[in-house]
Order: sequence, then C-alpha cells, then structure tokens
Amino acid sequence: MIIAIDGPSGAGKSTIGKILAKKLGLTYLDTGAMYRAVGLAVLRANIDPADTKTIINLAKNLSIEFKDLGDELRIFLDGEDVSEQIRDESVSKMASIVSTIPEVRRILVELQRQIGMESRNGCVLDGRDIGTVVFPDADFKFFLTAKPEARARRRYEENLKKGAQTSYEETLAEIQDRDLRDTSRLDSPLQIPENAFVIDTSEMDLEEVLSQLLDIISQRRKAAN
Ligand code: C5P
Repeated sequence: MIIAIDGPSGAGKSTIGKILAKKLGLTYLDTGAMYRAVGLAVLRANIDPADTKTIINLAKNLSIEFKDLGDELRIFLDGEDVSEQIRDESVSKMASIVSTIPEVRRILVELQRQIGMESRNGCVLDGRDIGTVVFPDADFKFFLTAKPEARARRRYEENLKKGAQTSYEETLAEIQDRDLRDTSRLDSPLQIPENAFVIDTSEMDLEEVLSQLLDIISQRRKAAN
C-alpha cells in the first residue's frame, strides 16, 4: 500500500506521516529530507546555488540512505548521519533551491520509487510531488495544508524549543518564500493531486488530523471489501 501526503511546509506532514506509518505497520519516507541532504552537500562543497551543472554532478555522486535506528529513522549522507544538520535554516533554503533543478528531482524521484516499491508492507511518503509525480497511482492521496500564519506559528514554536533565535515574522517570511518557490517552479510544482483528500489543519490538532486520515483509510478499505 502506498500513501502519499503532500502539502506546503509546516502543514504537519512529517509528524502525521510518521505516526500513520507506525499505526499501519508501513515504512515512512520523508522525501524532503532527501532534498535537504542534497542542499547540505551543496553548502558543504561551497557551490554557488546558480551553478546548476556542478550541483547536478554532485547530486549524481551522493549516497543518500535511511537507517532505522530503534524507534527513529535517520538519514545518512555519504555514510554520515546528518539527521540534525539537515534541519538547519540555511539547509531549508538550499533544499528549496536545489529542488527546482529537474535533474536533481529525477535522481531523487527514482530513489523514492525504489524505496517505496521495496518496502515490505507498503510506504507512507511525504513531500510536494508524491501524489502527482512519484506515485500518481497511490492507494491514498492526502493534501495537508494550513494558513501560512498557522504554519509559521507552529514552526516558530518548534524553533523556540530548539533554542533558535528567529522571530515569528522571519519564520513567516521564510515560509512564504518557500511556498512561492514550491508552487511556481516549472518542474513538479506543489499542487493538489487528482483525487486527493484535502485537509486544512489550521484549526486542528494532531489527534484530529490523524483520526480523520485513519477514518478515510478504514472507510475506503471497508468499501473495497
Ligand atoms: O518537507 P521539507 O520542508 O523538509 O522539504 C524541504 C524542501 O524540499 C522543500 O522546501 C521543497 O522545496 C523540497 N521538496 C520537494 N519535493 C519533495 C519534498 C521536498 O521539492 N517531494
């Protein structure tokens, strides 16, 4: 079974995706982490973000792997665990830039399809193009969204807990910037997949979103039997 969860930054996709996968016994794949790993590699190699050719060459030669360490899925870049480093704000920005390069997308989409197909019971994937490009025939497609202000508020509170120094206004501007890049890029822009269930999480808590998704899945499964 393949479950696609798409939507803009900060809509709660990864939190929901992880819990959903656990409840259903499926693999969870955070595709944003893969774009972030490429972004981190670009920053480390000090490549000019406008130098697309060098970025593509670098991406072709990177090893990106996920390892399940106990209760947690960690991401490894060329053998190094970079799960914390990829969450840096500078990496968020670079991930969003490299994700506009079609060749980078092709490399990562291929890897995502491979991981999805090889997962034993099925996979929950979250990203921006899962239901439109990576798995257009997914068994379930969800589009989680929320008002930019609600997403910025959540991200700001997460950052505060981590001790980051960004203000709410900066966080909102960053989210709006990423929304614009994600929705306006030519290759695989963020859009609502055909036949997707759209859920606006602005006024919902985690439990409510999760129970809505689980209800939809169990109703559809019952109808199919
Ligand atoms: O989901 P997350 O915010 O970690 O993703 C980082 C960046 O990677 C996003 O801003 C988006 O531009 C890009 N991305 C993408 N396609 C995906 C997942 C993420 O373009 N499937």
